[in-house]
Order: sequence, then C-alpha cells, then structure tokens
Amino acid sequence: MGKVGGRLYSWKKLGSDQMCEFCHSHGDGKKWYLKAENYSAELLNDLERRRYFEEFLPEAATWNGAKIEAGFQKAMQSPAWLRKLIYWFRERRQQRDHFGQVVPLEDLARVFDLANSIVRIPCICRKMNKGRNDATYCFGLGLDPEKMLGMKEAFLQTFKLGPEDAHFDRLSKAEALDLHRRFEKQGLIHTIWTFKTPFIGGLCNCDRADCLAMLSYRYNFRAFFRAEFVAEVSTDACTGCRECHSLCQFGAIGFSVMDQKTFIDPMRCYGCGICRSACEMDAIDLKSRNDHPIAQNLW
Ligand code: SF4
Ligand code: SF4
Repeated sequence: MGKVGGRLYSWKKLGSDQMCEFCHSHGDGKKWYLKAENYSAELLNDLERRRYFEEFLPEAATWNGAKIEAGFQKAMQSPAWLRKLIYWFRERRQQRDHFGQVVPLEDLARVFDLANSIVRIPCICRKMNKGRNDATYCFGLGLDPEKMLGMKEAFLQTFKLGPEDAHFDRLSKAEALDLHRRFEKQGLIHTIWTFKTPFIGGLCNCDRADCLAMLSYRYNFRAFFRAEFVAEVSTDACTGCRECHSLCQFGAIGFSVMDQKTFIDPMRCYGCGICRSACEMDAIDLKSRNDHPIAQNLW
C-alpha cells in the first residue's frame, strides 16, 4: 500500500513497473483491457454474470444524479477517517462488479479488434441525469442486445423507447473509430467498463456535466483508473494558441504567461489524450505512465 495525494492506493510491483491492480490481476501484468479472454463469450455466459446483467438495468433505472450527489455531499461532512473507510469498501465492491479505466484512441483501436461486437446503446447516465433518450454515447462490447437474453427488453423498459427511436446499431471497427474521433472533438473521454470483473462489456464517452462516474471523480471517489498514459506538451511545437484548454475534463491544462506556452500537470492528467484533437501543431504526446517519474504511481 502507498499513500499518494492524501489517499490510500494499493499497487503491486512487477519487475520495476508499478502496475494498476487490474493489470496485475486481470491482464497478466499487461493492460487488462487488451487481454482477449476478458471479452470472451465464456465469461459472459457465466450464470452469476448473467444474473448481474438482469439486475443491472432495472437498478440503473432508479439512479438519480441529484440523490447521488446529495449522498456524496453528506459523505464530505463525515470525519475524514470514516469517509475513507466507506470509500475503501465501496471502491473494492465497485472493482469487483463494475469498474472502469480511461482509454485513449490508439488503444481503443485494439479494443475494437478484440470485442465480439460493438453495439451503440443509449447512455444510462444522461438518461437518469437529463431524462434524454437520444444521448447515444455508449457502446456494448460483446453485448449485442439482440442476442443477450432479455437485454434489449430491459433497455426498452429502462428508456421507455418507442419503435421510432433508432438505437442498437451494430458498428464496424472503422465506424466505431470514426465516431470516437468525432467524440474527441466534443471533449468526451473514453472509459471502458467491466460487468462483473474481468468481463469487459461497456465503453462510455463521458463528460463532467452529465456522467455519474465523473460525478464520483469530483468527490474523489474512484470509479475508474486513470489511463496508462500521461500527456506532455512539446514546448518547441506549442504556439500558445490555447485551443486545447477547453477540452480537458480534469483541469490538468495550464498556461505559462511568461513562456506563452501550455503545460500539463502530470498529477492531474488522466491520460485520455482528448486535448490532442484540438492541437493543429501536434504538440501534445501521450507517454507511458509507467515511465513517468511523477505520474507512475498515480492511478
Ligand atoms: S491534459 Fe491529460 S487529462 Fe487533460 S485532456 Fe489532455 S490527456 Fe486528457
Ligand atoms: S493546442 Fe497545441 S499549440 Fe495550441 S496551446 Fe495547446 S498544445 Fe499549444
């Protein structure tokens, strides 16, 4: 266990690398979301996991952003030791059932190779927060609702979708990548999710305003890991135009008035890579988190 930024994190050593817990436990020491078995039908067909799916959507239909936020605010008023204890237990439970990680576009291309199907689905968070059925920023991976027993019906029930609603499109890898490039221009970060870990069944495109996972991030509750990357700006290439500033969901981008250059705080950067989509100078690169002297222990 180590203490970083006032919070308790655990990580395990593999050689000289610090690994996120999932990579160590579910990825054989490599990135857990690039392990083919984690997308397998065999995992999906596990009875306990099937039961989890059956219960997930009806439960999601009861989520309420305002109520969840009120719960976090109450937790903030608790003594710090109690809040840490509650968070610790809840994070553990979340890691067992439904946990995520930020994934940049280059790794998403590899994820799309591994997933048995990519189906566009309505966003549960935006439905619960904004009452909107038309926010199709999410994807089932290997969870084709037509083939999953009861899945499509559960979605229809949750979203009260009518026949006129166009949802559940099956996408090719090229189509999915193209769509995710467009999401980046809008500042949406890609997060990948387990459904009963380690099965990987979901991909979301999140922002701070509407997503429940990002809501928990604001209250320092960890529902997802940072990406395996951290962004750096080339001061030679950066013109100081500040186009990238508005895209960062994590408040990691700053500006040096003296140098007239942008800088990225590695303590805050989640490695999503979204800022790159605004930079015409190609001044922003993603580096491996493991190799970064400051960011390597931050998950
Ligand atoms: S600075 Fe980091 S967290 Fe912010 S958009 Fe860029 S890669 Fe993502
Ligand atoms: S968009 Fe690129 S050139 Fe402009 S400030 Fe950001 S890093 Fe620098």
